[in-house]
Amino acid sequence: MTRSEELHELNTRWHRDNTCSLKILATQAVFGDGDPNAEIVFIGEAPGKQEDLLGKPFVGASGKFLSEMLESIHLTREKVYITNCVKYRPPENRDPLPEEKEACRPWLEDELTFINPKIIIFLGRHALNTFFPDKKISDVHGTLLTGTFTGISTTNFIALYHPASALYNGGLRETLIKDFKQISLILKKLIKATA
Ligand code: URA
Repeated sequence: MTRSEELHELNTRWHRDNTCSLKILATQAVFGDGDPNAEIVFIGEAPGKQEDLLGKPFVGASGKFLSEMLESIHLTREKVYITNCVKYRPPENRDPLPEEKEACRPWLEDELTFINPKIIIFLGRHALNTFFPDKKISDVHGTLLTGTFTGISTTNFIALYHPASALYNGGLRETLIKDFKQISLILKKLIKATA
């Protein structure tokens, strides 16, 4: 079995066994997407309308913006892995509830353990607070965070504002574009430090 097939099997198993109450409301589960050997994993909040319909993360307006920012640092969606804290669309795009995030957390941890990236990028406060509940995105965006979490070997993290929040806010957009550039700089430093 290839790594992609193994990851698909992992996702299929978690979808089957998942107890998240959004499962019966959503059109389908939205599995993570991209390279199963990626050095960088992006974690968003939860699927929106387009993602729910197409079964792929970040394919709507914020996804287009995310792809543009990836290109700005010479990356493509195919070279990274993109997933969400919650794998099912919350109705009317409301914030996912703590119990919905909790129900999907072991799935997310399993994906991260499987991929074992060098760095994990949180897109927005929900992803950040899943791992660092006391940190505020306005304080830590664009900086390297380190921490150890049971079952996950990655210890390096960067939190960014969510692309959706920056879509119609010029100031945040500039900040996000600037913070994005930190990803490649920090990654280069990490690779150099472990070489
Ligand atoms: N916003 C998210 O957090 N995730 C998606 O997949 C799409 C929009």
